[in-house]
Amino acid sequence: MVVLASARVSGLDHVTIQRDGRPLHLAGKIVIEAVDGGVLLQDREGVLWAIPAEQIQRRSEDDKPYTPMSRAELSARLTEQLPGFRLHHTANYLFVYNTTPAYAQWCGSLYERLYRAFRNYWQRRGFALRDPEMPLVVLVFDSRESYMAYARSELGDAAGNIDGYYSLQTNRVTMFDLTGSRTRPGEFARAASAAQINQLLARPGAEWMVATIIHEATHQLAYNCGFHQRLADVPLWVSEGLAVYFETPDLDSTRGWRNIGGIHTKRLEHFQRYLAERKPDSLQTLITDDDRFRHPETANDAYAEAWALTYFVIRRYAKQYHEYLQIMADKPPLIYDSPDERLEEFQRIFGEDLQAFDAEFLEYMRTVR
Ligand SMILES: [Zn+2]
Repeated sequence: MVVLASARVSGLDHVTIQRDGRPLHLAGKIVIEAVDGGVLLQDREGVLWAIPAEQIQRRSEDDKPYTPMSRAELSARLTEQLPGFRLHHTANYLFVYNTTPAYAQWCGSLYERLYRAFRNYWQRRGFALRDPEMPLVVLVFDSRESYMAYARSELGDAAGNIDGYYSLQTNRVTMFDLTGSRTRPGEFARAASAAQINQLLARPGAEWMVATIIHEATHQLAYNCGFHQRLADVPLWVSEGLAVYFETPDLDSTRGWRNIGGIHTKRLEHFQRYLAERKPDSLQTLITDDDRFRHPETANDAYAEAWALTYFVIRRYAKQYHEYLQIMADKPPLIYDSPDERLEEFQRIFGEDLQAFDAEFLEYMRTVR
């Protein structure tokens, strides 16, 4: 998409498109507009629609300003979209679930703790965070099967084998009840209380599944608190590094998130193994080539390296990292940087000599254990 203008402050935009042979009316704000007339529209529910010019049947704008849906409107809309699901409200989230109320409450308390910890962490470091425009929506399915059916309808084959995801398009996190999953029948009875759920999920193996839902919630926070704009070309080492940095589960702590920035043992071990085969240009490709995160053969190495790099810069280059994050936050949706541009941006902030930086990075990581 070639972009003409970004983010106007204006009235509510109305766009009618053709979907499944029927006209579909969308109301929201045009986030960006392409030279050819295509638009990226955010509707009042917070969903992004990338609409090619040829799909637009009618377009108008009225004087009424754009406002995101209120909690009540959003609740009504989600109930309509997901018949049979119930709602659980917390201060900053709206959970839509068809599993037990106990599990929805457990998720609510976990996510609220992460929300506070995430914001405290960055505010203490001088970041001016913005508040989410509307309650953050989380769907919780009762089983892996029902979750997978839904995930496939949204993601297609990309749904793969993941235990939860954050959608840039809908801005929601989708997951399933982990206490009822991946076990032999009868082994994990459905838990009736938060204490039981903690117990079940503290078991070896389950911790990793919990890390996934924290990871996805961190993405949601990063996109809704001003770290990056949805569909902006933020290098994956930045967005994934941030999510991985926060993902270490901390189920025992009721007061806060003690583990933020702690050593992520699993990622560290993976990174140490990766060092044996790490190519001399690994840092460069981590910055310039997001495909390393997308291919199953290289993804684990990329995530481990992104964790290590994030861990390193937060400890050794905090000022530069913050400056870099600010540049990432200002990147508009759907405008893509070339690999060279990405590299130049990194070098401008962290230093021209990438090789020296890489050597320092590796030397530092050898001391981490
Ligand atoms: Zn991620």
